Amino acid sequence: MSKDNNVEITPRMQAYIDQSAKYLSERDNYIREVVKKWRFDTIAVHGLYTVRDAIEDYQGAIIEPIFMSTAQAYRDSDEMAAALAYKIPTWAYSRIANPSTYYYEWTLALLEGYGFDGETSCCSTSSGMSAIMTAVQPFLKVHNDVCEPRNIVATAQCYGGTFQQFTVRLMQERGIEVRWVLDATNLDEWGSKIDGNTRLLYGELPSNPQQGFFDVKEVADLAHSHNIPLICDSTVATPALLRPICHGADIVVQSATKTLTSSGFGVCGAVIARKNLVTNIDDDQLKTDFSLCVKYLQNRDFGPNLHPMQAVMTLNDMRTLRSKMDLMSRSTMAVAQFLEKHPMIESVQYLGLPDHPLHDLASRYMWLVDAEHDEQYGKPVNRYGHLMSFCVRGGAEKARLFFDGLQRIWRATDLGRIKSVATIPAISTHQQQGEGGRALANIPPNMVRLCVGAEHPADIIADLDQALHKAR
Ligand SMILES: *Cc1c(COP(=O)(O)O)cnc(C)c1O
Repeated sequence: MSKDNNVEITPRMQAYIDQSAKYLSERDNYIREVVKKWRFDTIAVHGLYTVRDAIEDYQGAIIEPIFMSTAQAYRDSDEMAAALAYKIPTWAYSRIANPSTYYYEWTLALLEGYGFDGETSCCSTSSGMSAIMTAVQPFLKVHNDVCEPRNIVATAQCYGGTFQQFTVRLMQERGIEVRWVLDATNLDEWGSKIDGNTRLLYGELPSNPQQGFFDVKEVADLAHSHNIPLICDSTVATPALLRPICHGADIVVQSATKTLTSSGFGVCGAVIARKNLVTNIDDDQLKTDFSLCVKYLQNRDFGPNLHPMQAVMTLNDMRTLRSKMDLMSRSTMAVAQFLEKHPMIESVQYLGLPDHPLHDLASRYMWLVDAEHDEQYGKPVNRYGHLMSFCVRGGAEKARLFFDGLQRIWRATDLGRIKSVATIPAISTHQQQGEGGRALANIPPNMVRLCVGAEHPADIIADLDQALHKAR
C-alpha cells in the first residue's frame, strides 16, 4: 500500500524499510508454508498469532494482545515518516490499524479463504453495516462527471438495514440507482438489470430472515463477464458452512456481530476480499488488494474502525466456530422438523428441510467445513446454519400471542447467539422499510424469525410447544 504523496527516503528510513521487508517476507512464508496447510479449526484457534510474536513483542502472552491505546510511539522521525507514508507495517493510530484488529483480520481472511487457491485479505469494521458501506463505497466513485448515472444490482431478499442503506442512503440521498433482483435464482433477471453503468452485484445468502439463496458461481461468472465484482453478505452461513470467495465471489461482508461473536459481547464487522478482484473502476491499488486499500485510505478518512477489545472478544468466539455451527445447525434441523408438523404452524422456512424450494441449490453450497476430515463424520455433510423462520397460523395477532408466550427463548432483535433468540421481523428488523418494502422482500406480518442456540434442542422444542399452545 502506498500513498500518492512522495516522501524523501533517508538512509535511516531505508534501514527501517529493509527491516520490515524482511519481516513481511518471513510472515508471508509462514502463511504459505505453515498456516495455509492447517485445517480450519487450527486456523480458527491460532490465526497468525505465533509463539515468536508472543515472546518477542508481547511478553509471552498466549492470548492475542489487547492494546487499548490510541497511538503508537516511534523511535525517531524516520520511523515515524516511514510508518505514516505506509512504507513499513506499523499501526500508527488506532483509527488506521491496531495489533488486536490485525490478528482479527488475519483470522477472518484465512477462514474465508480456506480452500481458495488465491490470496485473501480483510479489513475490520465497527459493524456489519459499516462493512457493507466499506465494501460498496469504492465502486461508486465518479469516473468523469459527477452527474454520471450509476447503479448497483442487489437481491431484494436481504437484511432490513441493508435495504435501508441502499434505498435511502444510496438511492434517495445520492441518486445511485438500486436495481432489486426479486428472484435471485433467475440468472436472466440478474442479467437483464446489468448495463454499462452497473458498478457491482450484491447478494445476501442465505438471506436474513427469508432464507433466500442463489447460485454463487453462476452469478459471479455473470458479474465477471461484465467486468464487475460480486459482493456477498455471508453473515448467516459463516465461513464454517460457505465461503463465497471459493466459488468466484470477489468480496464477502460479515456482520461479525452475529454467529462469529456468538457470545453477544458486541457489534463488529469485516470485509474480506480476494486479491486482484474484478472491477471496471480504474484503480490499481483497489484491484490488487481491496481490503488493505479500503483500510488504509477510505476507512482512514471515514473512520468506521473496530475497537481492539471487541476484536479480541470476537477472535475468542471464533476459535470454536466450526463445532458450534455443527451443533446449532443440527438442533435447528430438529426444531424445524418439529414445527413443520405442528398444527399451529402455517409454513417453515429452513434450507435444511428437503421440501424447501431452495434445498437442492443450498445443498450444493452449504457444507460443514472439514467434515470429511472429522473422526465423527469422515465424509462431506451438509449443514444449514441456525437461522430459520416460520409463519404462525391465524395471522399477526396469533404470531404475537405465541411470541409473548415464549419463556426460555429470548425476545430480541438479534441472531447468531449461543442462546436462542426470536423476533417478529415485520415489527423489528424490517419495520423501517414499510409494507411495500416488506412485500418486496417477502416478509409477512405473521413471520417469526428464530435463531436456535446451543441449548439442548428438546428444551427449545418444549418452549415453542407451550407458547404455541397459548396462541391456540
Ligand atoms: C445484522 C446483519 C447486518 C448488519 O450488521 P450489524 O453488525 O448489526 O451492523 C448485515 N447483514 C446481515 C445478514 C445481518 O444479519
